[in-house]
Amino acid sequence: MLIDPKTAEKATVEKVLRLQWWTDKLLTFTTTRPPGYSFAAGQYARLGLRDANGLVWRAYSMVSSPGQEFLEFYGVLVPNGLFTTQMKALKEGDGVLVEKQCYGFMTPDRFTDGEDLWMIATGTGVGPFISMLREPYVWEKFRNLILVHGVRHADEFPYRDELASYCREAPFGTNAPLRLVRSVTRDERPAPDSLTLNGRVTTLFENGALEKAADLPVTEAASRFMMCGNPEMIDDMRKLLHGRGMRPVRRALPGHFVTENYW
Ligand code: NAP
Repeated sequence: MLIDPKTAEKATVEKVLRLQWWTDKLLTFTTTRPPGYSFAAGQYARLGLRDANGLVWRAYSMVSSPGQEFLEFYGVLVPNGLFTTQMKALKEGDGVLVEKQCYGFMTPDRFTDGEDLWMIATGTGVGPFISMLREPYVWEKFRNLILVHGVRHADEFPYRDELASYCREAPFGTNAPLRLVRSVTRDERPAPDSLTLNGRVTTLFENGALEKAADLPVTEAASRFMMCGNPEMIDDMRKLLHGRGMRPVRRALPGHFVTENYW
């Protein structure tokens, strides 16, 4: 991919290494990692692809961890989306622009205390949590890690094998395995290899089903929350957490939750 000097100042061209389609709409792709590219698990990159009218840029969370030598991204095809129309046509060896700077504040080091990390995701918002689960310090920092993932249909759960291995055994010699709670909203079929609930993650939080499924109570002292995905889910979760006496982490003030809207 040829780029003009102004674009070259802010971005590098990276090569697509691997593409994995989970369904006809959900895609994981890996690219080369720019030399010196530094980020924290939970942050996102801005990626650029060329279409007939020029460059189209979108934010994508890193799924790879800072310790991995490639970059990995997970996305959904948006109907008529300018970026994802180009993404659909990607092939191994193609070029993707990656901005030199990375972004975002939904990182586990924002919490100064707490013992249980609840990672609440909808749809492709699960991506940054995969990155965190690949990081030893996240397992060391918290006593329990709980991943809650809500999707529309049972075939929309990616990274099954990797997550199943974290549920069997904690990696990096840490103590507690992952507690994984999955939920579908538009599908009666349960996912075959996990505890799968029906209903929105917000409803399941409110009625106590998440705590029951994770076998862990939510308390102001121990529980810390990260939410990523549908912006309305994040708003609703925020209200529910406020109702339980919790508050967001602010720059200088410790708190109970941090969030990242996905679009
Ligand atoms: P989604 O519509 O957000 O659905 C994922 C899950 O979140 C569903 O189970 C849904 O439940 C649930 N949900 C929605 N609103 C909620 C709320 N207020 N509280 C709790 N849960 C809530 O996302 P998706 O299925 O992954 O993607 C669908 C479409 O979203 C895409 O085709 C695309 O148009 C858009 N999207 C856009 C971008 C972007 O970057 N532009 C990124 C991701 C997704 P229900 O079934 O009850 O709604």
